[in-house]
Amino acid sequence: MQHREEKLKTNWRVILRLLKTIIKKLDTAHKKLNKQYVDLKVRKEELKESETRYRLATECANDAIWDWDITNNKIQFAGRWYEMLGYMKGNKTEINSWAEVLHPDEEKSVKEAIFKHLESKNECYIMEHRLRKKNGEYIWVLNRGKAIWNDDEPVRMAGAMTDITQKKTAENKIYKMAYYDHLTSLPNRRCLMKEIEKFIIESNEQDKMAFLYIDIDDFKKINDSLNHSTGDSILVKISERLKKNARLTGEDRVFLSHTSGDEFVFVLRQIKSKEEIIECCNNILKIFNKPYKLRGHTIHISCSIGISVYPDDGKSFDALFRNADMSMYRAKRSGRNNYCFYNRDMKKEAVQNLEMESEIRTALLNNEFEVYLQPQIDCKTDEVLKSEALIRWNHPVKGLVPPGDFIHIAEKTGQIIELGMWTLRKACEINKEIQTKHGINMIVSVNLSAWELQQSGLNLKIKEILDETGLFPEFLELEITESLAMQDPELAIKTLIKIRKMGIKVALDDFGTGYSSLNYLKILPITNLKIDKELIDDIVNNITEKNIVDFIIKLAHELNLEVTVEGVEDSKQYALIKGMECDRIQGYYISKPLTEKAFLNYIKNNQNKKGA
Ligand code: C2E
Ligand code: CA
Ligand code: CA
Repeated sequence: MQHREEKLKTNWRVILRLLKTIIKKLDTAHKKLNKQYVDLKVRKEELKESETRYRLATECANDAIWDWDITNNKIQFAGRWYEMLGYMKGNKTEINSWAEVLHPDEEKSVKEAIFKHLESKNECYIMEHRLRKKNGEYIWVLNRGKAIWNDDEPVRMAGAMTDITQKKTAENKIYKMAYYDHLTSLPNRRCLMKEIEKFIIESNEQDKMAFLYIDIDDFKKINDSLNHSTGDSILVKISERLKKNARLTGEDRVFLSHTSGDEFVFVLRQIKSKEEIIECCNNILKIFNKPYKLRGHTIHISCSIGISVYPDDGKSFDALFRNADMSMYRAKRSGRNNYCFYNRDMKKEAVQNLEMESEIRTALLNNEFEVYLQPQIDCKTDEVLKSEALIRWNHPVKGLVPPGDFIHIAEKTGQIIELGMWTLRKACEINKEIQTKHGINMIVSVNLSAWELQQSGLNLKIKEILDETGLFPEFLELEITESLAMQDPELAIKTLIKIRKMGIKVALDDFGTGYSSLNYLKILPITNLKIDKELIDDIVNNITEKNIVDFIIKLAHELNLEVTVEGVEDSKQYALIKGMECDRIQGYYISKPLTEKAFLNYIKNNQNKKGA
């Protein structure tokens, strides 16, 4: 019995110890649980607080927030998303993804950038693109996002979009100002350069492109005679016609640019043949030629086009531009309202012209120029009382250079002004000397270039030369050419009237060549008509030629003009023309142009012959 009691006691002790351990463990577990419960509660509070903060942040944010669950392809929006796109807040059914409202031009690039980000696990996805609003307008957004990956699989991507429309509008405005002409809204030279450079980078061997440099003929005249605002309106009208032409040719093939004042460039891509370019040029010339009606004026305009072709005539923007420009000048020189293709000889010529320009400069400094005089015989008295001053260049290497080789270059470079005034002064000096030293009252006739006649104050310069040399104005005649008078008749007439008022004579040179217009004989304040050699070359054998010259002489006399016939080379011509009541004859038959000394001898001999 005692043994059983003992055993029971022992068991109770064991149970008690066990219970104690269990209670202790339960207590520890309870404490742990309690702590976890407190922790959880704290975390829940924190989470709640963080969620509120997030909600507040997204609600107040200026951005649209998006959250894309990639696993089930669902996207959620927050922040200003709906407001930004003009939708009612929470009206989620209308738009499920921003991909739906992407601008078509950027759809491809945006999607590509996102896939690239998902694939390459880039730091961040950033892009500027447009989104369509509910009303159809587009806004610009800066879209930033980042994905998270589970192993290698992207599972979620979220980001924010900022409305940058204002910034983009300002940027576009600046871009437009920098790359577009404000008057015609056409791309400017800078923009053209970018386009050509892009084409060159992207082109392959077979890609040919024509660069058509279009320059309006005599635009300065339009600007001067009407006013600048009419000039601007014409430029706008021209640009509209060119734009229409570009559309008809095919907008994907044409790039039209307004490079400066009265110059446009028409770039034609995917060229297959030269004929295609010619057709394009003819179309442009045609659209230019239709008269422009503006503020009560009907204005006729033409243009000259220079063409260079990529890659044959140039492989850079500068080369294409330079060579087309060179060709354009050639087109102008060959009569305007024309087009001209570039060829390599032009470059050679341009280099030669450049060399010539510097040589003329040196020649002026070194006194290499000389004035020759060609006698003109009076048909009634057989006296020589008039001569034409003709410039010669005693080149140290090339020898005697005729004016035909350098006058046109001097005209282009502007050196003609200095050269012309030098000749005028020299001719006046020689003539005065002949009068004072030898007692012969000669008239000297000096050629005046078109450029000189367009100089303001030309009459004052001439007066200065007459004053300085002491030659009386009645002993000076100036020769102008028809073509020059035609280019700007009103300006020419104004200057010539001033010259005539000074007592100086004016002759119309080279009559019968170029633009012959009998009408101008009436308008121009001239005193003398010089019939060109070309018109009398075949006069002995050709009765029509004889009748024409006869008619011109009679008409000139009707108009109170004297007539000089030039280029008489033989006795038959001389006899025939003399019989036509022409006033003076000039030509190799009388004498070639002579140096000052030889001319003086010629005159003395002529006088002796008469006296004998
Ligand atoms: P132009 O004014 O018609 O001058 C007449 C040209 O015909 C001169 O050539 C003269 O030498 C040439 N000539 C005269 N008689 C005959 C003839 O019987 N047969 C032939 N075959 N030719 C004859 P040049 O001196 O070579 O001058 C050529 C052109 O250069 C001139 O033509 C004129 O337009 C220009 N020129 C000459 N000197 C000056 C100048 O000082 N200033 C300007 N602006 N031009 C000048
Ligand atoms: Ca002449
Ligand atoms: Ca002449």
